[in-house]
Formats: sequence, structure tokens, C-alpha cells
Amino acid sequence: MQLYNNLSAKERAALIEEAGQERLTISFYKYAQIGNPELFRNHLFINWNELDVLGRIYVAHEGINAQLSIPAENFELFKAHLDSITFLENVRLNVAIEQDNLSFLKLKVKVRNKIVADGLVDETFDVTNKGIHVGAEKFNELIDDPDTILVDMRNHYESEIGHFKNAITPDVDTFRDSLDIIEKDLADHKEDKKLVMYCTGGIRCEKASAYYKHKGFKQVYQLEGGIIDYTRQVENKKLENKFLGKNFVFDHRRSERITDDVIANCHQCGNPCDNHVNCANEACHLLFIQCEDCAKKMHDCCSDSCKEVHELPYEEQKKLRKGKGASNKIFKKGRSEVLKFKN
Ligand SMILES: [Zn+2]
Ligand SMILES: [Zn+2]
Repeated sequence: MQLYNNLSAKERAALIEEAGQERLTISFYKYAQIGNPELFRNHLFINWNELDVLGRIYVAHEGINAQLSIPAENFELFKAHLDSITFLENVRLNVAIEQDNLSFLKLKVKVRNKIVADGLVDETFDVTNKGIHVGAEKFNELIDDPDTILVDMRNHYESEIGHFKNAITPDVDTFRDSLDIIEKDLADHKEDKKLVMYCTGGIRCEKASAYYKHKGFKQVYQLEGGIIDYTRQVENKKLENKFLGKNFVFDHRRSERITDDVIANCHQCGNPCDNHVNCANEACHLLFIQCEDCAKKMHDCCSDSCKEVHELPYEEQKKLRKGKGASNKIFKKGRSEVLKFKN
């Protein structure tokens, strides 16, 4: 029985285009107690592969975190399968604002220690003592409240292209870093202020809110369903949209536009731009913001040295890369000395 992917991304993209079906990009998460994550993982792979689901899904003893795409015509079957799993019955599905049939090209279901790399030792605090979940309407009210401190729980490269008005956007590379920095910065307001937090789809706030309550914050709120569901709600209920710019996402789309505001700058020339790219030099792959003019001038690269490598014949590039792993890529998200206009 097939339990793993056997198509390359390229082959898959060709198949999707050929089929010409509409796909839906969806994300959801659920904290639960899963006795045998490996078994659960195989169960999901077999059933979802059948439904032509593609995506990145993490399963752990603590639950599931899924980002995926599915043919629109299989949605009801997929939903029925979710409902057949006790703890996923009626789970909230965050449907992407901007659809792209190629958002995911492989089905990867992985067993992990945790469904979010939060760096927290869960045994040291009560993870079930979470903040108050609020919808878009209440969230807007809270934003306008002078006693509110609004905090973006995402990383610097995410909030750089879009965030809520007046939010604190910590300049951090990881979720773990932001937890400490926020606690330190807001230490004097543990009792008198409302700590209101948000993230992409809500999952990071699930742990963060419990952690801050444990650290002594008295009034902790979190945006249910994150930016994705907020956007749906303001559209459906005709509420004011207090988000500015783009929502960063972790698939091939890289982001989805929420409002027309462009709040970031090209990291190479400083002109207004909020388009993330990866450096075309395979050995670099740096994530950064690049305008079309700079992309042309730099041949889609982040620096002159990357441009030189990128222009070499492929075989020579491969020789240069030999022995150097991909380990630098993870730590180079949006930060490099070559980027003159990265704040
Ligand atoms: Zn530029
Ligand atoms: Zn580069």
C-alpha cells in the first residue's frame, strides 16, 4: 500500500494543470490527545491520498496541524472524512482568501513531537487555560479599547508585509523568541492592560495565550481563526477591516492580499513593494522582498555574488554547492547584510 508521495512537484503541477479542476486551499488545526500518531498518520495518508489531497500536515501526540489543498469537487467527501474522526468533527476550516491551484504539490503527513515548534515545555504550565477567543466583531472593539495592547504573534518577515493597525510586531525570527520579548516588554502591564493577540490561523495563540496567563497576565484575548477567518468574517458581516496589506502564508502562494495597502519596501531599492521572493541562487534561497525592476536588474537574485553563481552553468553551480547542506536556508528568512533596505 502506498504510504508516501511518489510524484515530483513538477509532475504534480503538470497533472493539476492538465486536470483543470478547481482546488481549494484550506488549513485547520486541533489540539487533542492522539495515542498513536504514526497509526493516525497512515490513516490520514491513505484516505486523503485517495481524495487527491496535497499539503503539509503535522501530527503529534498533542494534535494535528494541517495546511492543504483539495479538488473542490472532493470537498464534501473530505469534510465527511474529517467528521468521521471524533475529535475532528466540525473542526473549523480556514479557507484561503486567494485560491491558487498550485498552492501545494505534494502530500506530506509527518509525525512530529509537536504540531507547532513553540519551544515550550508544556508540563510547566496549564496549556488548557487559554485566553478568551474572540471573533472579528469583538476583536475590532478590543483594538479600539485604550486599555488594549495588541500583539502580532508572528515573525518579522510575516508582519512586515501586513498586520493590524497599531499592533506591536516583534522583530523576531521564531515564535519562541517572541514569547520572551513580549513578556519582557509588557511586564508592567500584566494586570491593568488587555493583552490581545493574533496570528495567521490561530494556532500559535492557543499556546501563547495559556503561556501568558501562566506568566501572570490577567486579561488575555486571542483572535479565533486568526487573520484568515477574520478576513472572512469582516467580508460576510460587512465590518471594518482593520488589517493592512498582505497575509503571509506558508505555501507556494507566499501571501494573500487582504487590503490594497503596501506597507513594506523592496529590500534592494527601498521602493514600496510587498512581494516576497526566494533568491534564484539555489544555494542561497534567501526569502526577501524584491520589486520587479530589481528582479530584472538582479536576475531574481539577492546580491551580486548570488547573481554570479546563478549565471554559471548548472553543473558548476552543483559543484559549488557540494558538501554544503541546506541548513543555512532556514535561518536566512528575510535577513541578510546584502539587503540594504531591510529594516
Ligand atoms: Zn527594488
Ligand atoms: Zn542570494
